[in-house]
Amino acid sequence: MDLFKYTAHALHDMLVKKEISAVELAKTAFARTDAVEPKIHSYITETREQALNQAAAVDAKLTKGETIAPLAGIPGALKDNICTKGIKTTCASKILANFVPPYDATVVEKLAANDFVLVGKTNCDEFAMGGSTENSGFFATRNPWDTDRVPGGSSGGSASAVSAGQAIWALGSDTGGSIRQPAAYCGNVGLKPTYGRVSRYGLVAYASSLDQIGPFTRDVTDCALVLNAIAGHDAKDSTSINAQVPDYTKALVKDVKGLKIGLPQEYFAAGIQPEVAEAIQKAVAQLKAMGAEVKEVSLPHTQYALPAYYLIAPAEASSNLGRYDGVGFGHRAPGNDIIDMYKKTRSEGFGDEVKRRIMLGTYALSSGYYDAYYLKALQVRTLVKQDFDNVFQDVDVLIAPTAPTTAFKIGELSDPLAMYLQDVCTIPLNLAGLPGISIPCGFAQGLPVGMQIIGKPLAEATIIQTAYAFEQANDYHTRFAPVGEV
Ligand code: GLN
Repeated sequence: MDLFKYTAHALHDMLVKKEISAVELAKTAFARTDAVEPKIHSYITETREQALNQAAAVDAKLTKGETIAPLAGIPGALKDNICTKGIKTTCASKILANFVPPYDATVVEKLAANDFVLVGKTNCDEFAMGGSTENSGFFATRNPWDTDRVPGGSSGGSASAVSAGQAIWALGSDTGGSIRQPAAYCGNVGLKPTYGRVSRYGLVAYASSLDQIGPFTRDVTDCALVLNAIAGHDAKDSTSINAQVPDYTKALVKDVKGLKIGLPQEYFAAGIQPEVAEAIQKAVAQLKAMGAEVKEVSLPHTQYALPAYYLIAPAEASSNLGRYDGVGFGHRAPGNDIIDMYKKTRSEGFGDEVKRRIMLGTYALSSGYYDAYYLKALQVRTLVKQDFDNVFQDVDVLIAPTAPTTAFKIGELSDPLAMYLQDVCTIPLNLAGLPGISIPCGFAQGLPVGMQIIGKPLAEATIIQTAYAFEQANDYHTRFAPVGEV
């Protein structure tokens, strides 16, 4: 029985029926990691001892006949930019290589209240800056569908861990697509919630007005379960929304009759790999046959979203990363004086992409350029948001590709601009603060294709329902990545 291939909800049933124990399940995840990690490299840190203790606590509850939470005892992984008390949190950066946070992120506290089992902290692009996990300060992660290819990024290790069976679910962070794009490349479900739906407290900041934590899972049911566990208002995050959290499992309904779907024509323009566009069109035709109404819509400012993002995100990053100065925490290089120490610390500690963004952001914020670049980008951001507001008068959800292509080869996009273009379909949602989910909708030359379903603010339930109806009418989510097979 390949337990590592199961979903969280199936494993929960097996735990409750005492067909398996949580300790046995944790050990299965470790054995799977032993088998595939040398090929994939999902983890920066593994937390086996802690996982066994957490699992034993769940088994004790089961023995006593107590009810357990849906995620109790189910092995999960966290992107290594989510703070874990007493466990190294590196952001895949040499500058934080030995940083051990003194506190847990709010999402970690919430998961702990659900008796989750943490099996590891996953690799990512340094400070979540990138789209392939090649910008990690430590090593690159590989795609379980084809180990010559990237898993996507920046949350590549979370996506690969779930697809390779090393974890049943994982959390990532999405500032411009970093949950949805790796989910698409690795063939799993990835959700970026509405900005403010999930607390950012304890998520190491990249671009604070865009960052959002969300789940990677094997199917939409698990996505609803993880979102249930992490969503909600948090007084420790001033941008968190004080709105009631519905039970997202109530949205697991196979019904799209009368659902109004918009197809934003700008997302199907040149640059989209033909097989990707075809897979999405086919999926949309299927939803139509199931009773949804489909119409073309236009989001005219889409082409300006990418340049606006690559000013706003670096601007915020240049401010957020100012704290890594070798004084408060993290790496410090000895210098002749304080300026020399700052310079050497940052020069050794940060990788090229992080330095590039700090420079770009500092430039965009400098006096004389602020109005021309940063302020202009903010105005564009408002226009992008208004485009969405307009189309959402007429439609319930929008459907588009998650990424323009399937997973590319390691080293293929060495030009940073080419890499930035991978984000065209995901970035507008972050600028507008909207929720989006990526689900598998087909394959192109053996590689998974992701379909993005975009919702109105706080309409996670609507996109979950749409995703679930599509998923249940197909079997893409049941296919397992071939890594580890002989
Ligand atoms: N690929 C985008 C970037 O490089 C998005 C990153 C993210 O969402 N964290 O900024």
